[in-house]
Amino acid sequence: MKSITLHNNFTKELPGDENTSNARRQVYKASYSYAEPLSPSNPSMIITSKDMGKSLGLDNMASEEFLHLMTGKKIVAKSSPYAMCYGGHQFGHWAGQLGDGRAINLGEIKHDGKSWVLQLKGAGPTPYSRGADGLAVLRSSVREFLCSESMFYLGVSTTRALSLALTGDKVLRDVLYDGNPIYEKGAIVCRVSESFIRIGNFELQSARKDLDSLKILADFTIRHFYPNLKGQGKDLYLSFFRAVAARTASMIIDWQRVGFVHGVMNTDNMSILGQTIDYGPYGWLENYDEEWTPNTTDQEHRRYRFGNQGSVALWNLTQLANALYPLIEDVPALEISLDEYRTNYLKDYHKMLNTKIGLTKMKGNDEKLNKDLHDLMIHTQTDMTIFYRQLSLFEVDKPSEHLRLVKDACYIGDVVFNENKEAWLNWLVRYACRLTEESKPEEERRANMNGVNPKYVLRNYMAQLAIEEADKGNYALIHELHDLLKNPYEEQPEMQKWFAMRPSWALNKAACSQLSCSS
Ligand code: AMP
Ligand code: MG
Repeated sequence: MKSITLHNNFTKELPGDENTSNARRQVYKASYSYAEPLSPSNPSMIITSKDMGKSLGLDNMASEEFLHLMTGKKIVAKSSPYAMCYGGHQFGHWAGQLGDGRAINLGEIKHDGKSWVLQLKGAGPTPYSRGADGLAVLRSSVREFLCSESMFYLGVSTTRALSLALTGDKVLRDVLYDGNPIYEKGAIVCRVSESFIRIGNFELQSARKDLDSLKILADFTIRHFYPNLKGQGKDLYLSFFRAVAARTASMIIDWQRVGFVHGVMNTDNMSILGQTIDYGPYGWLENYDEEWTPNTTDQEHRRYRFGNQGSVALWNLTQLANALYPLIEDVPALEISLDEYRTNYLKDYHKMLNTKIGLTKMKGNDEKLNKDLHDLMIHTQTDMTIFYRQLSLFEVDKPSEHLRLVKDACYIGDVVFNENKEAWLNWLVRYACRLTEESKPEEERRANMNGVNPKYVLRNYMAQLAIEEADKGNYALIHELHDLLKNPYEEQPEMQKWFAMRPSWALNKAACSQLSCSS
């Protein structure tokens, strides 16, 4: 393998922690601390992302050298790995300093005019690890690898995954929080993004009134990741805020489009680039349910439920506005920008819903049409992915014939379905009328719909099956799902078994419907 050269823009251009020990501590006046990965005892590669590797110009990901780099066994010459310093609001409460407690950034690869940060998740403790070990287990790493890859191919803005490897070491975890910890296999995902800066990086500097570090961080972020913004001083910072809000809105709308629930939208888990980041207790909607959250820690208040993600993003952006305030000092302008987010979000959200049902123009009653559809889907527990995908087969002159396909996508039994049959038929007839108004050729409508309604998503039970196999040392299913999810909008007849309703055994099985943060 051609040896990798890593660059250090982040550490060169931002203030660093002068203390180089790994002791856990509060870190002031700095954006990062140096931190070396632990050396794993017996690393082995499970899977790599060839496409990601290509984007990085990596030619041989099968080599031992690559394995050692991806697991922290060896550090690239002249690089200086570091952990980032950030804070955050967790479940609505200010948590103070958090930081990369189990992520170590190796540095940046420059390729084809782009710069990418490589980050090892689970490579050992850092000054930000607080009471925890800095490690990650196989199950959460499989989930992160597969889901971040799948999101990329779905066209949802996300951090990427380059590799998933075992460390050969054991990690102690209390999965069920019942005081019975067990040893699990340790693993490391190498994540990749242009930057892992979060809203929380700005919040921490601002909360500490460290305005010098705040300004340096904002200037760095704008210079490297928002280079097209115009203006100077306060105007530039305001444009930056608005650009972050716009990217965040578009990411959340994509989540709503594909049925993804992040599960822990704390401000430390919100990327400043509007990318999906930190795949923890996330989940995919099976039966359409706006109240659903996969996160067991959030069962009571359901702050991060599917139907609340747009509002939570607004709340998070409000924290970013507060954090940037010292650089902007214009409350009305920030309030207008937040209003703009709210208005644009709603407008684009409704537009997106229309594309899911194959409508290209917005008409007065379309919001109601979509709302009534969702009410029906909730009531009859309709599988979101299957329903929308099958809707492209709808024939305008035969609305009642579509009833069978709807029924096959519902988790409730015949009796409840029959009680709602009339209501469904009514909706299908209204839908047929609306399609007739648009008079788009059927073929075109189908192609459009199949381009926004995925056929294959990483259902919760699919990830769990891959994890159980991987735990036994069999990685075939991880590879199969990775391949499948590279083309989520394509028909893949040989993979039809993954275009199926959630099996009944998965409904109440731990990790198939609900997850904790413990990983
Ligand atoms: P999360 O909810 O996974 O985004 O984590 C919240 C905070 O806890 C972040 O600062 C993480 O770095 C830290 N953290 C989570 N798990 C661990 C771990 N096993 N060891 C050290 N820090 C952790
Ligand atoms: Mg996090």
